[in-house]
Amino acid sequence: MPMRIDIISAIPELLRSPLSHSIMQRAQDKGLVEINIINLREYGLGPHRQIDDYQYGGGAGMVMMIEPLFKCIDALKAEREYEHIIYMTPDGDLLNQALSNRLSISGNIMILCGHYKGIDDRLREHVITMEVSIGEYVLSGGELAAAVLVDSVARLIPGVLNDSTSALFDSFQDDLIAPPVYTRPEEFNGWSVPKILLSGHDKNILDWRSEQSLERTMKRKNDLKGD
Ligand code: SAM
Repeated sequence: MPMRIDIISAIPELLRSPLSHSIMQRAQDKGLVEINIINLREYGLGPHRQIDDYQYGGGAGMVMMIEPLFKCIDALKAEREYEHIIYMTPDGDLLNQALSNRLSISGNIMILCGHYKGIDDRLREHVITMEVSIGEYVLSGGELAAAVLVDSVARLIPGVLNDSTSALFDSFQDDLIAPPVYTRPEEFNGWSVPKILLSGHDKNILDWRSEQSLERTMKRKNDLKGD
């Protein structure tokens, strides 16, 4: 059974393109992941399919109502089991490679994209099982954040990348930054590719890449300390 990712969104169009090209589309075509976008409006209230309302206590900005979201989540849960019900939110756990690795080998996940001032907090208290932020800044909606999360997770699902070892050498696996990469031509504008990479000597190339990787990692650590 492929991993299933259900994304609840009030603006599904924002998600379609990022998840239907390149590696994301290939992952779905290969049957390794099933990505399903649910239009929250279908669960909206009344003839206008209302999904938001004024905040109790007053204040600027609308809040996503509990009922449409609860009904939608409940309908999905009736179909299958989910290991995580994730709410994308700026104050959630900061997304990193370790979390993406963990989610890539998890069971089905449901992702909830917020809008306006966010969702009625009772959902966070009683229904949401994980909260994820893609950075300490505020986006206008959760769709772009959800697309980032899904991309980082889906590419790690075994079989998605053509060369399964490729992801192992990406930055942040083993806490290391990836070494520099080059392709043709050997010389451009007087700038040359490091000679070692053209030597054909696998062991020396491997050693050089490890050194570069360590150097970049140390430099980044020092740069971060200086901030
Ligand atoms: N009032 C909220 C706050 O101050 O934390 C911000 C709401 S934001 C305008 C609307 C929605 O965008 C959020 O509910 C969330 O789903 C999404 N969002 C915004 N920034 C995000 C981030 N950095 N990471 C993940 N989701 C984010």
